[in-house]
Amino acid sequence: MAPLPGGCYCGTIRYTITLDDPHSQARTSICHCGNCKKFTGGEHGITTKIPKSAFEINQGRDQIRVHEADNGSGTLLHREFCGTCGGPLLEYGANAGDNIYVFYGTMEDHARAQVQPKGEFFGKLRDPWMPEIQGLFQKKEIKE
Ligand SMILES: [Zn+2]
Ligand SMILES: [Zn+2]
Repeated sequence: MAPLPGGCYCGTIRYTITLDDPHSQARTSICHCGNCKKFTGGEHGITTKIPKSAFEINQGRDQIRVHEADNGSGTLLHREFCGTCGGPLLEYGANAGDNIYVFYGTMEDHARAQVQPKGEFFGKLRDPWMPEIQGLFQKKEIKE
């Protein structure tokens, strides 16, 4: 199948995701947690979970910056972004296994069309004006 290309806001960093079957191998989720709000500057983060082995940097590797911090509940969260424009690229937690979470909006239009969102997380932290998206799995977090 055709690779899914993407890159950072300024275009310095370019990557390619290669999946045999995006429908089964990728999972895009919307997350309303406070960390995602802060990191992306929006009401939610939206990322696409893929196997780490499917992700390849084609350009700008030396501009990738890394931020690591506790996510607030004891898990080390690793985030990569562009050192030139500051735009996000991907993230993964210490317990993500061999998967990474690529920031959905960094993929090009035709790539995003192949990995549309399947679920929403941390709905309790959804801003009051933001409606639930119909048809998506709604994760009920155990933690109140
Ligand atoms: Zn950039
Ligand atoms: Zn989040």
